[in-house]
Amino acid sequence: MIDIFSSLRTTYLQHLLVSVGLGGFLFLQVPIKAQTWQGTKVRLAASTFTPEERQALQPVADHVAQLVDQLIPGKPEGYPTDGIVVFEAPGRWKTLEFATQYDGPPVTLNGLRVFDEPPETAGNTIRIALNELPRPNALSLSYQLAHELGHVKLGTRTDNYLDETFVVALSLEVLRLLGYEGYMLACEGQNLMNLPPVAQEAIASEKWADARAYWLKQSKAQGPRVEDRGFETLGAMLILRNRRRVRWSALLNASSGNVCSDTAPAHILTRCDPDISKMARQLSLLQPLGLERDR
Ligand SMILES: [Zn+2]
Repeated sequence: MIDIFSSLRTTYLQHLLVSVGLGGFLFLQVPIKAQTWQGTKVRLAASTFTPEERQALQPVADHVAQLVDQLIPGKPEGYPTDGIVVFEAPGRWKTLEFATQYDGPPVTLNGLRVFDEPPETAGNTIRIALNELPRPNALSLSYQLAHELGHVKLGTRTDNYLDETFVVALSLEVLRLLGYEGYMLACEGQNLMNLPPVAQEAIASEKWADARAYWLKQSKAQGPRVEDRGFETLGAMLILRNRRRVRWSALLNASSGNVCSDTAPAHILTRCDPDISKMARQLSLLQPLGLERDR
């Protein structure tokens, strides 16, 4: 909010200066504060996207960033001054050597560089490593990028099943806003295939109270897991059923309240439990999940 007010004030001062100057009155030397936040900028790395691919996909990436900014306005903690480099992770990042140390791509990275990142990420704090995209594919780029930009907005230090549920919901909402509803439903459907029959039946027959009860029970057993996409997608569907009431803006820097038991390496999302008792701002996202009672 502070950034919005300061940019409004800057615009007002610029307007005042122009008005006074044009009117031929005494020119007031009013210092103008430089604008520091102009929205999320993403840059597709030239070393992993060809010029033709960047020409086709950079506008898509810009549109995704713009929609994420509309839903969650404001500058997140640690945002790099020259924007976020987005690159395709080398295929070997999915190998065991990498996977035992880091979450596989798509993944948001913070701080120290890992393995063989492309040259564009040198000196950058936050970077996004995408999974290899089938070419040309605006759909999978949008889905992966919206999810990872959700992590950027929530905070790139910590992660847990609830943060994942929020960013899955955000990514599905962005697909819908982009007009990719068919692809959104396909992603939903694919993720839900991992759920047991009892949960799938609840969804198919729209027994949402049963679906919520299943999600809530599973949430107590998630622990440090963050990759249970079926569970997270079910939670996202519960949130999105009330999308008009969802206050997405409450997700800005929301993960800073997560409880971490030890100091984590500063280069990857660390698993830290949510503290629901302190999540008053996020009530509109907790209620559809049945978590408001834990507050
Ligand atoms: Zn994630």
